[in-house]
Amino acid sequence: MSKQQETITNVDAVVVGAGFTGLYALYRLREMGLKVQGFEAGSDVGGTWYWNRYPGARTDSTCTVYQYWFSDELLDEWNWEERFPSQAETERYLNFVADKFDLRKSFQFSSRVTAASFDERTQRWLVTIEDGTKLQSQFLLMGTGGLTEPVYPDIPGVGDFKGESFHTSRWPREKADFSGKRVGIIGTAATGIQVIQTIASEVSELTVFQRTPNYTIPMQNFKLDDEMRQKYRQEMPLIKQKVHETFTGHDYGTDPRPFSEVPEAERREIMERLWADGTLAYWAGSFAELFTDEAVNEEFSKFAREKIRARIKDPALAEKLLPTDHGFGTRRVPLETNYYEAFNRDNVTLVDVNETSIESITHTGIKTSAQEHQFDVLIYATGFEVGTGALTRIDIRGSDGTSLKECWAKDAETFMGMQVHGYPNMFTVMAPMSPGAAYCNVPTCSQQQVEWITDCIDHVRKQRQQSIEPTREAQNQWVAHHDEVGAVMLAHKTRSWHVTTTSDGRTRPVAYAGGAHVYKQRCDEIKIQGYPEFNLS
Ligand code: NAP
Repeated sequence: MSKQQETITNVDAVVVGAGFTGLYALYRLREMGLKVQGFEAGSDVGGTWYWNRYPGARTDSTCTVYQYWFSDELLDEWNWEERFPSQAETERYLNFVADKFDLRKSFQFSSRVTAASFDERTQRWLVTIEDGTKLQSQFLLMGTGGLTEPVYPDIPGVGDFKGESFHTSRWPREKADFSGKRVGIIGTAATGIQVIQTIASEVSELTVFQRTPNYTIPMQNFKLDDEMRQKYRQEMPLIKQKVHETFTGHDYGTDPRPFSEVPEAERREIMERLWADGTLAYWAGSFAELFTDEAVNEEFSKFAREKIRARIKDPALAEKLLPTDHGFGTRRVPLETNYYEAFNRDNVTLVDVNETSIESITHTGIKTSAQEHQFDVLIYATGFEVGTGALTRIDIRGSDGTSLKECWAKDAETFMGMQVHGYPNMFTVMAPMSPGAAYCNVPTCSQQQVEWITDCIDHVRKQRQQSIEPTREAQNQWVAHHDEVGAVMLAHKTRSWHVTTTSDGRTRPVAYAGGAHVYKQRCDEIKIQGYPEFNLS
């Protein structure tokens, strides 16, 4: 054995990422008695809520479901301030969790994992950190998130702008001062909407570059008082159960009736009620046919368009801000607060890039086919390298030495979004082909997956085995099932980050579209049956 090998630390498990997933995974594995080491690229805990600190960042799920359920003590001690917690509040919460369970000591911060390779002989992963440190681990749990690696627009000159520029997911810790500034923003989806509605009144001028307008629902946010918190706590046993019985992991499911059997008058009443709830219930808590039946979808789309149109003063502008090329909920529906009112302001201008194309980003702003815009600040709210980005950035090599990037170059296929054949003992969360990749409230699906994974690890250890991976056949069957249930979704026909194109030219949803509740049942069955579709060695 060489001197270098002698100094390599040996652990039972490495956890990558200190966000919702990584913190819980580390907690569970440590409770099971494993020696665990966590690594986090950021300087502190928070994951998504550490990096995405752009103005107006806030959850789109209510605090009742955007939290951990594993500890009653935690549920009792933490007091949510708002129905929809802001980035700052969610980050504080994750810090509170890290301190309460003493998780920080098991994480090494500002430490990006750069490589991990599986050694067939020792059945262990050799993990490399950016400073060159290496360690050996039996299990590797990737809590790296599905929306992690920023994507910049494919526009000539990106990087040339000499003023301040930000990608929303790499926002600095210091509060940016926009007063008196001319700001340009590209992107009008969940992130862009939150930024635009927040900074419109602060800036001197705001120019919004929109490629696709999105449907939205007005968020009904409010501060919580002790009485409300008490009510939520009383409801918690029911909520904990309910989230695992619904399609999207929220505490509201779809109406069990076929929409066609609901009387006309009642339909309107239901739509009004769901809309007024100010949550994602108008989308995820309405009717299953909304996702699959074009006529039903059009009723919901029409209603949403009416509501939105009524808030925009200029009818011509309203037509630009209203989606017409896709149905309601076939792309991610953001919640908004005064988003349309921002466009009623004199200092906010919309540029529809389908009419007036962006030609380039210049030293001083953005050149379109119509004019040259001068900005002090440029904001990219242009999204992420979805699902795969955070994983393929790391040089992960499986049992035959193939890199995950190479393996996924054609198609990012997984077994239930939690393992990839050829990469034993590596577990992923929120990865492609699981509901959490797009269709599930993140804390629900993250906790469910972490529990399944840690139970699986426990099984391997109790069986006195060294490694586990799904068979090739099991993975292929899951991929076929994934494609079959995904094909009926209207979202399947709509361009968005929810859908990818396979190497043979088919569209494929990034997330499992059979429902988070169905997915959990399948996971539970696999555990009860003793992991029949896996190779243990
Ligand atoms: P996104 O949904 O991928 O949106 C990117 C935006 O940038 C889109 O409007 C896109 O237009 C636009 N864009 C990209 N390239 C462009 C170009 N060359 N020219 C013009 N426009 C361009 O990213 P996101 O808004 O960051 O949201 C990603 C996901 O993060 C959300 O769907 C959600 O799951 C999560 N998120 C959640 C919350 C929350 O819970 N409150 C908040 C923010 C984000 P096209 O639509 O035409 O592609």
